Amino acid sequence: MEASAFRVEKIASREILDSRGNPTVQVDLHTKSGFGRFSVPSGASKGHLEALELRDGERQRYNGLGVQKALENISRVIAPKILGLDSRDQPKIDRLLNELDGTENKSKLGANAILGISIALARASADTANSPLYRTIADGRKLVLPLPMMNIINGGKHAGNDLSFQEFMVIPAGFKTFHEALRCGSEVYHALKARLEAKYGKSAINVGDEGGFAPDIESVEEALGQISDAVEEAGYSPGQNVVLGVDAAADSFYNEDKKTYLVDGKQIGSQDLFELYAGIERSFPVKSIEDPFHDEDFDNFAKITKKLGSRFQIVGDDLFVTNIKRVEKGIRLGAANALLVKVNQIGTLTETIEAVEKARQAGYGLVMSHRSGETEDTSIADISVGLATGQIKTGAPARGERTCKYNRLLQIEEELGSGASFYGPEFLKKHQ
Ligand code: PEP
Ligand code: MG
Repeated sequence: MEASAFRVEKIASREILDSRGNPTVQVDLHTKSGFGRFSVPSGASKGHLEALELRDGERQRYNGLGVQKALENISRVIAPKILGLDSRDQPKIDRLLNELDGTENKSKLGANAILGISIALARASADTANSPLYRTIADGRKLVLPLPMMNIINGGKHAGNDLSFQEFMVIPAGFKTFHEALRCGSEVYHALKARLEAKYGKSAINVGDEGGFAPDIESVEEALGQISDAVEEAGYSPGQNVVLGVDAAADSFYNEDKKTYLVDGKQIGSQDLFELYAGIERSFPVKSIEDPFHDEDFDNFAKITKKLGSRFQIVGDDLFVTNIKRVEKGIRLGAANALLVKVNQIGTLTETIEAVEKARQAGYGLVMSHRSGETEDTSIADISVGLATGQIKTGAPARGERTCKYNRLLQIEEELGSGASFYGPEFLKKHQ
């Protein structure tokens, strides 16, 4: 193929709606012979060091959440510098985007503008090369289908209930293939739905932002107990072929002035919170905990990793914000043993890959992740396979903006055929 086929020829962007009904950026990028599109997701429980999502702030449109300034930055500042470049020069173009912005957190042009371009560029390169995105991203890495971590009870900032913890996940790890794991997750989801309705009434099966149920229950143990029982009811074995995970998202219930956490209606200190985690580890088949402490508490992250990390995955999300400098600090201090990977926390594909490789080198686990505000875009499924993250969390096995990622993984599994490896059994072995 001629090099000119990869020349960037046209960039367009528009304001679309995300799954919460808020505006977000969608970018179309044309090379001479191909096309790439990316729709930028948006979080609710954001780490305070995330790259900045630029919003218009003018109240008369979308309550200030419009993204027209980001679109203007794309058409006036970014596009003129990128037109004519070779789309395969991803690291160079991502560096250029950072230079054009010039700030630490991408606040001038907006991480939503920058990420829209960065991933649309990767998609256009793949399309021009006539290759699926996962293959061009893999760049020689072994292709691995991720273990799905499905968020089937929603709380925290993602639901209208009083559960402090944000996510309660089912992790069907004891299967040989992605599609069997997905089927198990879906069956558990439906067993849980029937249980919740029978025990708490119809309103308990209303869902939160990520498609998990949002019952009006108030304790972590009750939520985990319901899921554990649903696993058995669906015919699986908790602790054997199905384990559980939580994302506490502890920052969202931390009181900085009092230095306490509001858990299940009580203000508790970090030592009590630590004991709560140790307790749920003893009582339930929980194998993964994300953001157990607030996002500057490297010390307690290190402490819990030392105590439980040999058989337990401790994931840093708000702690690391997919930022290589934060990951390096975590590695130095022994804080967490897995990285949550969110492309819009850092704002370019190249910087995402740098954080992933740094964590991998240190033996950290990797979990590709959606945001609570999503779109129909499926790029993270391909990125997960291409970067061999081994795990993905993209919500419940329900609601279109969540299932489109799982369904894309089914297609990839079919395309790869016997060449597909699946991380599930390895996860189980690692966290026995
Ligand atoms: C998370 O905290 O892991 C998450 C997906 O939620 P949000 O997108 O709201 O940060
Ligand atoms: Mg999180």
